[in-house]
Amino acid sequence: MTAPVVSIVKHTDAYTSVKQAIELCDGLKEFNQRDSILIKPNIVAWDFELPFPPYGVITTTAVIFALVRILHEEGFGNIAVGEATLGVSGSIAKKIFKELGYEKLAEEFGVELVDFNEDGFDKVDVGGFEFAIAKRALQADKIINVPVLKTHNQCQVSLGIKNLKGCLSRKSKMQCHGKELDLEHAFPLIGEKLPIALTVIDGIYALAKGPGATGKAYRKDLLVASRDMLACDVVGAALMGYNASDVEYLKFFAGRSGRSVVGLSDIELRGERLEDHAEKYEYDWPWAEDDSGPAGFKKRGITGIAIRKYDSSLCTSCSKLYNPLLILLSSAFKGEPFPGIEVLSGKRQSASPGFEKTLLFGKCACLQNKDNPNIRQAIAVKGCPPDLGQLQKLLAEQGIHCDYDQYINYRRYIFNRYKKEDGFDMDMFIM
Ligand code: SF4
Repeated sequence: MTAPVVSIVKHTDAYTSVKQAIELCDGLKEFNQRDSILIKPNIVAWDFELPFPPYGVITTTAVIFALVRILHEEGFGNIAVGEATLGVSGSIAKKIFKELGYEKLAEEFGVELVDFNEDGFDKVDVGGFEFAIAKRALQADKIINVPVLKTHNQCQVSLGIKNLKGCLSRKSKMQCHGKELDLEHAFPLIGEKLPIALTVIDGIYALAKGPGATGKAYRKDLLVASRDMLACDVVGAALMGYNASDVEYLKFFAGRSGRSVVGLSDIELRGERLEDHAEKYEYDWPWAEDDSGPAGFKKRGITGIAIRKYDSSLCTSCSKLYNPLLILLSSAFKGEPFPGIEVLSGKRQSASPGFEKTLLFGKCACLQNKDNPNIRQAIAVKGCPPDLGQLQKLLAEQGIHCDYDQYINYRRYIFNRYKKEDGFDMDMFIM
């Protein structure tokens, strides 16, 4: 078997660099002019209410525009861009397309913008159970996968294989975060069912402590491309300081396709030298060794509360609320210890004995603990995902008063820390 080729290109301007990355890996070699091409960016989420720094969180619009222009120049006329956004009260894909200026792609190049949530899903057997996968993704002749170079707090890195989770219905996304089915053995199955012809990792920004906007972004200025999604992810992981053999889902994906884990020595690298750009990015926040909460809580002297570290059974919709939960709890600390509270989330955590109150964050934690004899008094925030307003109300009834303004201030802080003079430019996203 010939070695898969992966190109690494320094970003100068999006058009030149994407073109170079594709050419270096012969990215369009197997494309035919009549192919229906689906581009899958990572634009699974946006926040229309609070400041949202998209750096390293979503694919830059500049890269998507460059890619469409290149395809158009090469004579490809049947191009669509699709995403199934997260969103509890309806899909927000069209709103995000509009916010980012994707409508210009439709006007200038005839690109079809597809909200997978509206377009529909087909059930596909992925090995003993079914996933609802976007019809458009299944019907496309070729998919160009355009993830971001980022870390992920539940599976270390989030690259091409992980980006395909955005092709699932909301229910199937949740299914990936099962009680028994492990996340890292779930989403890699999607890639086996889709015609991924090219992966282009957008590393203009890279994200530590991802996958969301509370992580820390860096201007990385790289593009990584390959016709081999696994090899592309292996290189992307190495650029963030992760060895593929230590990332469970990369091993799992490789094993299922009959390959041993692809090592860097099995890959033909073209372009920039990997070792000139590899930097370690932490994927997670430090947690107290006794699992009593984030290390930051201990530093602030917050006691009387044990917040159990979330696990991979926590869906993305709940994960997005975990940071606000921590900030709200922290805002309620006024110097006195909390009254002996244990905080549980996801589908696997069970209440321990010895606590006065148990905060059950979300429907799953409530179900998992509904008959748990260790619970003296439950504070059950039952929604799916739970509602922060209800959380504050229930805590206030217990004499614990959160300050939502502190969360808003935090969001302003994480947005304002990125400066244009340091290369953080919203023009890369809003066209
Ligand atoms: S409560 Fe949270 S973890 Fe449970 S299914 Fe809903 S979003 Fe997922």
